[in-house]
Amino acid sequence: MQHFPIFVALAGRRVVLSGGGEAACAKLRLLLKTEAHLTVFAPDPAPDIAAWAAEGRLRLLRRAMEPGDATCAALFYAADEDAAEDARTSAIARADGALINIVDNLGDSQFITPAIVDRDPVTVAIGTEGAAPVLARSIKADLEERLPTQLGLLTRVGKRFRRMAAALPAGRKRRAFWADYYFEAGPRAVDGVETGDAEARAQGALDALLARHLSEDQAPGHVFFVGAGPGDPELLTLKARKLLDTADVVIHDRLIAPEILDLARREARMISAGKEGFGPSVAQSEINDLILQHVQAGAQVVRLKSGDPGVFGRLDEEIEAVSAAGQPYTVVPGITAAASAVAGIGQSLTQRARNASVRLLTGHDMKGFADHDWTALAKPGEVAAIYMGKKAARFIQGRLMMHGADPATPVTVVENASRADQRVIATSLSGLAAELAAAQLSGPALFLYGLAPRAAAEVIPELPRQEVL
Ligand code: SAH
Repeated sequence: MQHFPIFVALAGRRVVLSGGGEAACAKLRLLLKTEAHLTVFAPDPAPDIAAWAAEGRLRLLRRAMEPGDATCAALFYAADEDAAEDARTSAIARADGALINIVDNLGDSQFITPAIVDRDPVTVAIGTEGAAPVLARSIKADLEERLPTQLGLLTRVGKRFRRMAAALPAGRKRRAFWADYYFEAGPRAVDGVETGDAEARAQGALDALLARHLSEDQAPGHVFFVGAGPGDPELLTLKARKLLDTADVVIHDRLIAPEILDLARREARMISAGKEGFGPSVAQSEINDLILQHVQAGAQVVRLKSGDPGVFGRLDEEIEAVSAAGQPYTVVPGITAAASAVAGIGQSLTQRARNASVRLLTGHDMKGFADHDWTALAKPGEVAAIYMGKKAARFIQGRLMMHGADPATPVTVVENASRADQRVIATSLSGLAAELAAAQLSGPALFLYGLAPRAAAEVIPELPRQEVL
């Protein structure tokens, strides 16, 4: 980030602009929305500028700028649309201590003016560091369309009401009140109403809403067991996304990517349960207690698990604890690592005439390396997705070969499936343990037994991540 966005308090401060043409008018139209004292230097000002001066909205000096003219100014705009004159005036302003912006000259400017969506006091500033003005314009257009024109008015009325709303307990109850006002009751109250009456209507809506919310009981807590998918935030379900947006508490496994945790509501309490599959872990009973403690306090608890919560996620133990305590819960599925890994190598988990079934296996269970029906797996054409297999690779390899599996059976290891650092190792059953040891994987890895990447070119050593736009 080369430019740090801030909002500058300009009320009562001096802002100086040099220039009298189109560029000057465009900047002045924005600056006139503020309460700054504007001074414009323009030997030959456009009619708009002369009119604003006549209305007393700015001070106009019909001459070129001289040293000392920007004394005490907070900001200076060089808008002469002439490189030499812009350089001269901005040097003066810089010497006078103002922060300078030269219109259409990013390199020599000390600050830039973003594209603005104005619903005062709600202001959205959009910047692209000069890289893509088209993009900034299109984001602005999207937001202009999405944000109700009355949002400014609703916000101004809402701001005055903050003290009244403090009658509601802080936290979820108060948030629900404001969400109701800004997204439901407020827009409904002022929709199609003339500006003069809109303020009174918004105020009326707030009074009625507060009375209603004060009389309602605190909503009970709820636990959502949510699948976070394999890591790419774009592979979250819409439900997962929405729940992260509204959660009071997020209890997450260690495997969850930081980009996904970043999507949680800013005020949400984030708790790492420190579990990594069946690896070193916080005791399950402690996690259960943590969930119960928060749901019993009335919180919306998101228990975020990697992939799908119902695949090697110890979901049942947590559900049993929650339901034994009489608390409500919902399971939200996610994309499991096997689905993501197989997509990453352009294959299917099942295929007509090859395999009519697929197994999801774990390399580890509570007793150590997990035993399976090796004889069935060793048959030609079998496909299995093996979770938590890294440490058990040699054991799995040995058992399968002992039960007659073809040593040339393809095995593909996908590390960090769907993430930017996804790695694919295409090997065979006989090469599995050695290649895995050589690759020194540090991320979660899934073995696809019986599957090779579709295209030979994609085998070694890394698959490019597919950009989803
Ligand atoms: N519930 C999860 C699995 C949890 S067990 C799911 O449905 O995906 C943890 C194991 O999942 C890891 O040891 C690894 O084998 C696999 N895994 C999880 N995320 C993965 C990823 N992004 N890439 C490869 N394997 C992954």
